[in-house]
Amino acid sequence: MKLHEYQSKQIFAEYGVPIPKGRVATTADEARAIAEELGGRVVVKSQVLVGGRGKAGGIRLADSPEEAGSLATEILGMQIKGLPVRKVLVDEAASIATEIYLGVTNDRAARCPVMIASAEGGVEIEEVARTDPEKIHRVWIDPLLGLREYQARYLASSIELAREHWRTFIQIASGLYQAYVSSDATLAEINPLVVTEDDRLLALDGKMVLDDNGLFRHPDLAEMRDLDEEEPAEGEARKYGLSYVRLDGNIGCMVNGAGLAMATMDVIKFFGGAPANFLDIGGGATAEKVAVALEIILKDAHVEAVLFNIFGGITRCDEVARGILAALEQVDTNVPMVVRLVGTNEEAGRRLLAKAEMITATSLADAAKKTIAAIKEA
Ligand code: GDP
Ligand code: MN
Repeated sequence: MKLHEYQSKQIFAEYGVPIPKGRVATTADEARAIAEELGGRVVVKSQVLVGGRGKAGGIRLADSPEEAGSLATEILGMQIKGLPVRKVLVDEAASIATEIYLGVTNDRAARCPVMIASAEGGVEIEEVARTDPEKIHRVWIDPLLGLREYQARYLASSIELAREHWRTFIQIASGLYQAYVSSDATLAEINPLVVTEDDRLLALDGKMVLDDNGLFRHPDLAEMRDLDEEEPAEGEARKYGLSYVRLDGNIGCMVNGAGLAMATMDVIKFFGGAPANFLDIGGGATAEKVAVALEIILKDAHVEAVLFNIFGGITRCDEVARGILAALEQVDTNVPMVVRLVGTNEEAGRRLLAKAEMITATSLADAAKKTIAAIKEA
């Protein structure tokens, strides 16, 4: 789950990271009132869950409350990378001397968190990694020891930060790491962390991604989920306990089990097709769950065929078949469907589906080939 900039910065502040004064607004009037309260120059920032808002014109400086109000009107009417802006953050503007990048994420290969710093802040770190990899500095953190002071000092020296800022930088790095660990985050990032003209360090931007599997331990953080911002189908799927991730191919997949779903996607690709989604209906899925899953798959306009790959263990094939039939009654579709059902009650499942117009397959390879062929024919 991604958090907005204003939410991430609030969490960072709780761990001692200095952030600019400011508040979030949903209307131009509110934005003007906040600017008035703050006094002086402010920055009006679109709150959408994508990066590169600055380049897209979603971050603007205002010299007066009136200007803040009119910029808020403009920004609240914008779409950034397809996402409508529903909130703006109005912050005290900072006069920037230098922009730094500081972030923590998991290094899966090293099996521990890694803290990354670069003197090339303000631009996307992926871009820096591509063009100037030597400008990225990393320290790997032992989860039992936490971030050690010498590691933070090493980063400060690597990015050639002036000595007078080292103490504050170490506090910020340690606060960021604490925020990351305490929230069960997979990413906590400050980009840019700035040195201001009057020699203060300030987190101007914040980004956090939380591990969905850890959210049950943080009801307060779970409440921060912005339902307006997420892919509606993914929210719907979560409600029914389905794991669904939308991809950009044209073959809808319904599979029981995450590993089998991954294998199914691989086999589709192996035969030259492209999956439209990852979908795990889980073990022992009921007919109702299957019906919801099929509706979710078919709502994606890119889907040109659906492949069901069900390996019946705890999941019963006849129950899945009933779900497919129930869903087909509710949704009107002429998308070709290919089914591979094996395992518990497969005979009963096949009998039920015989009535529906579906293509049956005996193996996963057979199913993938038939699905791709069906799309070509249609
Ligand atoms: P992003 O583009 O989505 O990453 O949004 P950021 O919050 O990082 O803002 C992008 C850029 O806008 C920053 O790198 C800064 O250069 C600039 N910016 C953001 N806030 C301020 C501010 O208060 N004052 C000034 N002068 N520039 C700012
Ligand atoms: Mn940024």
